[in-house]
Amino acid sequence: MRMSKTVLITGGSRGIGAAAAMLFAQEGYQMAVNYCANRLRAVEIATRIRSLGQDAEVFCADVSDRIQVEAMVNAVERRFGSIDVLVNNAGIAQQKLFNDISPAEWERMLAVNLTGMFHTCQCVLPQMIRRHSGKIINISSVWGITGASCEVHYSASKAAVIGLTKALAKEVGPSHITVNCVAPGVISTEMNAALDQETLSALQEETPLERIGSPEDAAHAIVFLASEKADFITGQVISPNGGFVI
Ligand code: NDP
Repeated sequence: MRMSKTVLITGGSRGIGAAAAMLFAQEGYQMAVNYCANRLRAVEIATRIRSLGQDAEVFCADVSDRIQVEAMVNAVERRFGSIDVLVNNAGIAQQKLFNDISPAEWERMLAVNLTGMFHTCQCVLPQMIRRHSGKIINISSVWGITGASCEVHYSASKAAVIGLTKALAKEVGPSHITVNCVAPGVISTEMNAALDQETLSALQEETPLERIGSPEDAAHAIVFLASEKADFITGQVISPNGGFVI
């Protein structure tokens, strides 16, 4: 019998990451669920996964911290053996006029949304390269494609994620590792909790499919890119956005 594949998902405690963790478990993957601050929420997700009959464990790490990421990846490898799929989902957002963004806020945005992926990819890749197999899925955003007013630092970080994805896909393709990007449109999670009803209605009206996305809408694209059905897809950006950006 073939062992279940292992997924390490960053930011699996809430929102899109939690939805993807549940979908992966339903598809028979065992889950390493990373969180930064919300241990209880991550434990709740792992408990729900185990109740589906799949193995799951939570791992704390701030993805912007190299030492913490190294410790997390070592712990996941000790617990599950190899990591077959890495989902770089952890992210932060902030709405601010460009000239009000402090240097510290700029650096924190890039540190979590971009450098975090650099750390996780560098720590996970050696064993993927040795095994000549692996899938990496990076979460960008439509704002990384089009740019968003009052989110210059967020948009810059998410555009950089697309560049990282494309370049890394070329570099590790010969090792049979795929690297792809999911760039969701507006998804109903705590990240958007600050948006008022007027803004949400306007975004909905601008969306051809006339609704805001659910975490599962993004999660399905992530799980697809991790599957064997996506074996010939690499360096691509899939954007579940209801037609908001075409
Ligand atoms: P949420 O705010 O709901 O959840 C964010 C997740 O990231 C949490 O699990 C959080 O962990 C984790 N996280 C935050 N900072 C760190 C860190 N430094 N280290 C490790 N984990 C961290 O966000 P969403 O689910 O909405 O977003 C998930 C991803 O999707 C992000 O990359 C976001 O940019 C992207 N995205 C979201 C869209 C949306 O409309 N919601 C649209 C397009 C892209 P903890 O709970 O422990 O704090």
